[in-house]
Amino acid sequence: PPDVEQLGRSTWTFLHTTAAYYPDKPTMAHRVNMLSLLRALPVLYPCSVCATHLGETMKTHPPDVSSRAALSRWLCEQHNEVNERLGKEKFDCSIEKLDERWKDGPAD
Ligand code: FAD
Repeated sequence: PPDVEQLGRSTWTFLHTTAAYYPDKPTMAHRVNMLSLLRALPVLYPCSVCATHLGETMKTHPPDVSSRAALSRWLCEQHNEVNERLGKEKFDCSIEKLDERWKDGPAD
């Protein structure tokens, strides 16, 4: 079976980085493709417990693909949901903190 922790770190890296570089003004094609990517996860993610949880939280809190900031925040909140469940610290979902972690790096 996959290493759920390694898989999780890699997947979060991919998702948060992709959100950090998503357009401020996405075209219809950007939105449709991002929605497909996110909606595929509860079906395909190779940790079935994780996939089931994600499917449940996505039902009550549907993805917001309307802008880079909205998507980054939505994803941060989904990740915080998992953090909370696993007893990990919550992340500050402001765009400044998200960009520092996933786009720009710390200011010097
Ligand atoms: P991770 O949680 O992997 O975080 C990686 C880095 O992201 C952190 O070091 C931090 O810099 C940054 N970060 C942390 N929180 C946020 C945030 N809210 N927003 C932006 N950046 C943040 N594991 C389970 O055991 N059970 C589950 O049900 C489960 N569900 C998952 C569902 C999904 C969709 C994914 C992608 C992973 C899931 N995982 C689950 C794995 C789990 O979330 C962690 O990836 C894993 O436990 C490793 O944790 P970590 O402490 O190394 O950091």
